[in-house]
Amino acid sequence: MADPFTKIILRTGKEQSLLRFHPWVFSGAIKKIDGAVKEGDCVKVYDGKGQFLAMGHYQPGTIAVRVFSFEDVTPGQAFWTAKVRRAFAYRERIGLAGSENTSVFRLVNAEGDYFPGLVADFYNGTLVMQMHSVGMYLLQDTLVNAFREVLGSDLKAVFSKSEATLPFRADVPKSNGYLYGAGDGELEIQENGLRFLVDIQQGQKTGFFIDQRENRKLLKHFAKGSEVLNMFGYTGGFSVYALSGGAKRVVSVDSSGPAIALTRRNVELNGFSHATHEAVEADAFEYLKNASNAFDLIVLDPPAFAKHNEALHQALKGYQRLNAMAIDAIRPGGILFTFSCSQVVSRLHFRQAVFGAAAQVKRKVRILHQLAQPPDHPVDICHPEGEYLKGLALYVE
Ligand code: SAH
Repeated sequence: MADPFTKIILRTGKEQSLLRFHPWVFSGAIKKIDGAVKEGDCVKVYDGKGQFLAMGHYQPGTIAVRVFSFEDVTPGQAFWTAKVRRAFAYRERIGLAGSENTSVFRLVNAEGDYFPGLVADFYNGTLVMQMHSVGMYLLQDTLVNAFREVLGSDLKAVFSKSEATLPFRADVPKSNGYLYGAGDGELEIQENGLRFLVDIQQGQKTGFFIDQRENRKLLKHFAKGSEVLNMFGYTGGFSVYALSGGAKRVVSVDSSGPAIALTRRNVELNGFSHATHEAVEADAFEYLKNASNAFDLIVLDPPAFAKHNEALHQALKGYQRLNAMAIDAIRPGGILFTFSCSQVVSRLHFRQAVFGAAAQVKRKVRILHQLAQPPDHPVDICHPEGEYLKGLALYVE
């Protein structure tokens, strides 16, 4: 029987990155497409000598193929179920799946789990799937079957939240909704024993910034007796940890009204009083203008300032300006947790921007901790592009 998969043949020399297991084929590497192909199709990739290299999903654009296997496989239900099983086993191995005090974790982290185009976050029985490619979108029923088989009765519902993440021009219906089970979009989860309400439908990303779990835990250790500013606080993750660590006072600032409303509810849910917590709907730059020397501990976790390489220079200027204002707002002997989640901003770039900020406001700064994304957001060593979250915990003289 003829092979049903369209063949993609690479230019000589362009097979090298695939031989090193990098999972992307750029359109410029393609010499020939042997047959008809449309967005989302499974394709097989070969070198110029006819040697098989990989299988993946085709997409028109710069990244033409996203590789899901470096072996020649039949990508049916059994293949995808086995892949989900490996992702789950990894979460069991790192102590997240089945944890007593944490019911939220990332189960599938795109390329970091050899699933290009798919993110799936587990929220206490509800899985929120985000598809970034048509290839993954077309597999959604197969994926739901796989999750149900692997998670068994621990899985109550699967919500697809791909409306905003599928390629803008993709010719598929885009809507959010439950693919399995039901719910009203609001869930309660536990993280390190603290409780949070999560709005999976209206909230940002899949609902919660799961990637800050370890950094929130670290912050708790520095909070005792401190006046804390949680800038870009979203639904109050860092604020609740600071309160549970014995902070004297916490101010949460975010420009989103719904995020601030949920922050207040999350503070109450954990039994803390609004006498020690204040939630402010405001712009970060505006707020920091009047905050000189006002806090002992600040968290600065802005949205990505650069989504593309062209925006890098401006983004670095933005990080420097923001960090200068935050360092100025810290009392002598205070601590700053500062982050960048821009994939195009490297760890070194970010460190230089923060260094520039300290020099600008003439404060001495030492690095307490280098921060990163947690292990349920793994980075495939062959795909360094997957490392996006970087941060520094700083001691400010
Ligand atoms: N630290 C949070 C995640 C922060 S996400 C956590 O652990 O959950 C970034 C947040 O910045 C979003 O909630 C967004 O609403 C907010 N934001 C974006 N631009 C802003 C601005 N100019 N001023 C204040 N907040 C802003």
